[in-house]
Amino acid sequence: MIGVLGHSVASGARCSRAGCIAPAAWAILWRNPKIHSKDRQKTWLACVEHREYLEEFLSARSFPLRVVRFDELEQPS
Ligand SMILES: [Zn+2]
Repeated sequence: MIGVLGHSVASGARCSRAGCIAPAAWAILWRNPKIHSKDRQKTWLACVEHREYLEEFLSARSFPLRVVRFDELEQPS
């Protein structure tokens, strides 16, 4: 399956939206302040189409979130 879409797709990185099999284009880093301590961070991956959906899902709950490009997430830091 690698390369089928004509651009690099990291192994198995798919959109987090239920039922979506599109490759991840964005990473949404978020935290639920009620259950996660400050150093905990969850990562959702989003395709181009579902980034907005997932962002709104989280912001509707007032969770702090940050969106980065998926390929930036991959960079070693
Ligand atoms: Zn998607």
